[in-house]
Amino acid sequence: MSYKPPNRAPGGAPPAGPAALRRANLSLVLRELRDHRVLSRADIAETTGLHRATVSNLMAELLERRLVREVGVRHAGSVGRPRRAVALHGAHVGALGMEINVDYIAVHGTDLSGRVLVERRIVHDAVGSGPDGSVRRLAAVAGQAVEAMRRAGATPAGIAVAVPGLVDVTRGVVTLAPNLSWHELPLAERLTSVLGPLRLPVRVDNDANLAALAEYTSGVAAGTPYLVYLTGEVGVGGGIILDGRLLRGADGFSGEVGHLQVDPHGTQCGCGRAGCWETKVGLAALVRAAMPEQAYGLPGRPVPDPGERVSDIAGGLAAGDPRMTAAVAQVGEWLGLGGSILANLFNPRVIVIGGYFASLARWLLPHAQDQLDRLVVAGPAARCRLVASTLGFGAASRGAASMVVSDVIDDPTAIIGTPPRPAPV
Ligand SMILES: [Zn+2]
Repeated sequence: MSYKPPNRAPGGAPPAGPAALRRANLSLVLRELRDHRVLSRADIAETTGLHRATVSNLMAELLERRLVREVGVRHAGSVGRPRRAVALHGAHVGALGMEINVDYIAVHGTDLSGRVLVERRIVHDAVGSGPDGSVRRLAAVAGQAVEAMRRAGATPAGIAVAVPGLVDVTRGVVTLAPNLSWHELPLAERLTSVLGPLRLPVRVDNDANLAALAEYTSGVAAGTPYLVYLTGEVGVGGGIILDGRLLRGADGFSGEVGHLQVDPHGTQCGCGRAGCWETKVGLAALVRAAMPEQAYGLPGRPVPDPGERVSDIAGGLAAGDPRMTAAVAQVGEWLGLGGSILANLFNPRVIVIGGYFASLARWLLPHAQDQLDRLVVAGPAARCRLVASTLGFGAASRGAASMVVSDVIDDPTAIIGTPPRPAPV
């Protein structure tokens, strides 16, 4: 299984010149090691088609940069001599993934091999704080995470931020995030400026896209090439993986499934329209039906942690609370209805439900799967299963960190602070 990254520079020229070729080959070797974990130089030569001497030469540079490490010997079979093996290392290179949502900021920091160094979720009222306040808070949280990662021995190579909305990934601008009340916010530029001295490249992407990548690379349905991921927060977004690639659309705006209009006479949505799918299945909709006295947007109430709200509802469901049971059944049916639209469009093998959907999957899934099977044109023949994510609220920030890792693997020579020593004469 391997994630095929999208073209990062549409229309960009293919690598040219010896330096670009070497960079591409270093990247090729690292990608093999990421996908297969432990390989010998001969294995890498076989799978990449590179010459043995070239692989040895590239490996010398990667060892020098401490991006790979020797891990003893690997026996290829009962015959043949054991081969010295290498694995991805990069414990000194960090990748910081963040997510901002309506009521929290999540952080997931790893090293290059995926070892988790920092993982946090902080309550944050994004709407009440306004864009400026949220940028400042994101920067403060990022600064603390960078410190913690440095104490663990890793210097972050970059930051990626997941946002629930439409993102122009090339410019790092959030075009529209209805639930955060953000419009044309140049988040990458603003965050880079506030983070100033840290001099870290900042990328911004849609939360569902990043979570879908995390699911595809390390989730419950990892490796499933036709996979849809649904975020389950106040808003609902979709990340769509087709044939192992993220579907972005012409402008990068695909996956706005939360704003499929499912009820023209329904409740007003954050996007200004009425009866969008997320007004039926988002966390705010469930809270409104299950415990209206705690509904979102009531004046004078602090924003509680979403996890606490969901635990309260889970507790009520476990105790058989009739109002909560009816609310979750209704949300489950709407979840299946929207899921059937996606199944009819994309024919995924799996729809992974994340966020609060996953926390309440025990109660939601039976209603949702029944409805989906009933409404998909191909019926059960489509074999589309709804499954609960095991990555929970951390999926988008985890995907963001893995995108930074992908960036490093795409160009290992861009890592500052690990220049190779000059080759002996
Ligand atoms: Zn909407």
